[in-house]
Amino acid sequence: MSIKNIFWCKSCLNMSTRPRIEIDKNGNCNACNWVEEKKTLDWSKREQELKKIIKDTKSSSTYDCIVPVSGGKDGTFVTHQLKNIYNLKYNLKISLHNC
Ligand SMILES: [Zn+2]
Repeated sequence: MSIKNIFWCKSCLNMSTRPRIEIDKNGNCNACNWVEEKKTLDWSKREQELKKIIKDTKSSSTYDCIVPVSGGKDGTFVTHQLKNIYNLKYNLKISLHNC
């Protein structure tokens, strides 16, 4: 790869050679664009939608849901939220295929 094909995000300096990072025509990476997009989402509305789904699907069986996680911080946070905030019983599935 030539140095001409390497770009850096103008906001966070992510390199275009980093896996799953794409630099748009404005010089911003997809991670920075996602940060901006998240600011526009109606998180209260989305939480109400989640609570409705939980209410409609919660069962009296051993588990309420399956949580696929890789063992990283994002999946750990999700499992914490489901158990401690939404009081769900889950069957945790840890993927070993992306290690
Ligand atoms: Zn960036």
